[in-house]
Amino acid sequence: MSLFQRLFASIWAVLKPFSIAMDLTPIFARLEGQPVLLVGAGLVAKRKAAALARGGAKLIVVAPEVCEEVEALVDNYGGEIHRCFYAEQFLDGVRWVVAATDDAAINLLVYQHAAARGLLANIVDRPDLSDFTLPSVVHRSPLVIAIGSGGASPVLTRLIRSRIESAIPASFGQLAQLMAKFRERVKLRLDSLDARRRLWQNVVDGPVAEAVFSSNPQLAERLLLENIEAVANQTAMQGEVFLVGAGPGDPDLLTIKALRCMQLADVVLYDNLVSDAILEMTRADAERIYVGKRASNHAMPQEQINQRLVDLAKQGKRVLRLKGGDPFIFGRGGEEIDLLAQHSIPFQVVPGITAASGCGAYAGIPLTHRDCAQSVRFITGHLAREDSELPWHELVQPQQTVVFYMGLLGLPKIVEQLLLHGLPQHHPIALVEKGTTPEQRVVCGTLADILAKVSAAGVVGPTLTIMGDVVDLRKKLQWFDVES
Ligand code: SAH
Repeated sequence: MSLFQRLFASIWAVLKPFSIAMDLTPIFARLEGQPVLLVGAGLVAKRKAAALARGGAKLIVVAPEVCEEVEALVDNYGGEIHRCFYAEQFLDGVRWVVAATDDAAINLLVYQHAAARGLLANIVDRPDLSDFTLPSVVHRSPLVIAIGSGGASPVLTRLIRSRIESAIPASFGQLAQLMAKFRERVKLRLDSLDARRRLWQNVVDGPVAEAVFSSNPQLAERLLLENIEAVANQTAMQGEVFLVGAGPGDPDLLTIKALRCMQLADVVLYDNLVSDAILEMTRADAERIYVGKRASNHAMPQEQINQRLVDLAKQGKRVLRLKGGDPFIFGRGGEEIDLLAQHSIPFQVVPGITAASGCGAYAGIPLTHRDCAQSVRFITGHLAREDSELPWHELVQPQQTVVFYMGLLGLPKIVEQLLLHGLPQHHPIALVEKGTTPEQRVVCGTLADILAKVSAAGVVGPTLTIMGDVVDLRKKLQWFDVES
């Protein structure tokens, strides 16, 4: 062997443990009642112990010192603790071995003993010496999702796990249970494999699953039975409607549930408060229908929108009604689902972050404060433009924050009436324009000067008006936009 070859061989021997491991084959093991030897009982061992104990394994812990968490696991789930150093005799009678001490030499020794006896071993930080690894797990019992990187990066697997956690509703396990419950019945009613596959496809991403996710098991069972009949008779299935709040503008403020509905829907009905960035997050092949809504210029009359939702759902479509902010706050959401309820069309309402919360947070204006505002009131400024009156005497009460939605056009009248009803000239008031978006502007002033400031700034909308002593807190708490 040349010197070079010898040098290469010795470098390889050192590096081999760090070389990229072969792909591991995922296997779900039944550990219930099986003794598993855990050598070490510190920080790392504790994570492994938890995974094994929850899987029903009988833990045999060997370590001179045992941390409280491992003790508690053995107390709760059963097992043995041996407070001593590792010795080979502990391998007697076990099939699975985990070495998780902070001493690499001991871990290696455990591996050598286990390998000599043909036992399956997991050695901490040595994927090259491990016959098995314990994956990151997302539990949706009876569904279990395991993620592994062959030891390459536990941080990465944890990141992926948290993404999966948020993408898969917590109640997914209940869906699996429902499917298990009906499996035999479906086999009897639908004899072709193809029909059954079609049914289950409809179930997992249709109204049945949605009913489970919204904690309505009775509805889920009824819809499942209807689905079985529809597939058996080859008739069209009923659709459903998601009435979803898209928040005030920043797409990151969408809820996880909103996003899920957005990615399910075949048709999207949206109005002008919904930003393009948010619309982009709906399914690429979904049909998009603009039903715009400005206070004075309805692109589609409300009754027509309500009817359209019914018609589309009856065609079997999954319809997303996407509205700015929260659908139940000045959003006419109640009217839109009223007709759906009359037609027994399944629907869900997904709340969104309303403009007041979004604008308050992004403007650095807390809506309540222990010292100066014990209550907050959301009111529509829309009426201020018409002959009808707002309850002015209630709006001038001390220690409260008043938030006007749709208040820009009526602002002169609002200011005039508030002064007339007793608020001082120096009372703080702010307008937030396009709140939570990159174009957000905030105009702060007092009842005396706000009209001049708003017209100087050329504010157009949508804008939210926040009034009360909390407005002054922005001087300290501003973080998102640059003062204009
Ligand atoms: N359902 C919505 C409100 C619809 S009414 C919600 O919960 O937020 C429309 C009014 O909301 C607008 O006239 C404006 O006053 C306010 N608004 C909505 N989005 C806004 C934003 N990004 N910035 C400022 N005001 C907003």
